[in-house]
Amino acid sequence: MPSVWAEETLRHEPEAEIWVGVRLLGTEVPERATILRDAVAAAGSRIVAATPHDDAALASVHAPDFLNHLASVYDAWVEAGFPTDPGQNRVVPYVFPTPAMLAGMDARVPTAIHARAGRYCYDTMTLVGPRTWLAARAAVDAALTAVDLVVAGEPAAYAICRPPGHHATRAGYGGSCYLNNAAVAAVALRRSGLERVAIIDVDAHHGNGTQSVFYDRADVFYGSAHVDPGAGWFPHYLGFAEETGFGDGEGATLNVPLAPGSGDELWLAAIERIAAAAASFRPSAVVLSLGVDAAADDPESPLQVTHDGYRRTGELVRELGVPVVAVHEGGYHLQTLGSLTVATLEGLTR
Ligand SMILES: [Zn+2]
Repeated sequence: MPSVWAEETLRHEPEAEIWVGVRLLGTEVPERATILRDAVAAAGSRIVAATPHDDAALASVHAPDFLNHLASVYDAWVEAGFPTDPGQNRVVPYVFPTPAMLAGMDARVPTAIHARAGRYCYDTMTLVGPRTWLAARAAVDAALTAVDLVVAGEPAAYAICRPPGHHATRAGYGGSCYLNNAAVAAVALRRSGLERVAIIDVDAHHGNGTQSVFYDRADVFYGSAHVDPGAGWFPHYLGFAEETGFGDGEGATLNVPLAPGSGDELWLAAIERIAAAAASFRPSAVVLSLGVDAAADDPESPLQVTHDGYRRTGELVRELGVPVVAVHEGGYHLQTLGSLTVATLEGLTR
């Protein structure tokens, strides 16, 4: 199975996350990508270089003003002097135009860059540095190259995407995600002529961004197993079982929230349910949002999935019998990140 690699994904260095106002070391580190590349190469995967793609699929997922903002916000931040006064070398939003603030009025585009950052970023955890855009755009190219491989006849391809993407919405970023790699891959598969695409998200957290992009669409199914946001976990506001789609998309979203502490048995029952729903959707291809942070050792979630659980997850996706584009999402325990990913990909291909 080919794995797509883009060197530029290493250039995003968030350095920190601002959590409850405290600057903490970030866990979405560049080393994640090299660990993934080395692990899949050691397992026998052929490493394929990502090729540049134009913005067509990207622009159909994300709003133009959002893309312009993300591409230019760091330079504007430097120009406004923030790295020296007050001494913040990363873009951190300052005020958020929540519905409670706007009270039904439209959100303007603020003049001040530190205020504008909050129009497009919905948390304080997702900082922008000098080469964040370069890396995020390269991750999209990796996902699109994996799509090309599958369209050309590969039964499965894996994109080593970093930064991850499933929390990025049409016009918003957050949760360590900037551009939605999985959503762009699904759109590209549709544009290749496939009628229906299913996205199966096995990251520990709900992919609120991906859900929101396709929430009213009948041509893309979104199914996710994740730690219950109602039990106090990110993204807190979304990912509940009653979210099933809207309008034409009614019934094409399936969320299976799991209690903290859930292990292989409950996890695999959830994945079986999602796979069955995906099968009845009759997709021509699957995009697997492959996060491995549901694993027992991962610091970012309380789920307790094992290597065998992730391998079986891959098998359940393979048993759908359609081509699969696997796009990397989360997974932050550097000692097991590689082996968990390899286990999933082995399930997907054997
Ligand atoms: Zn996650």
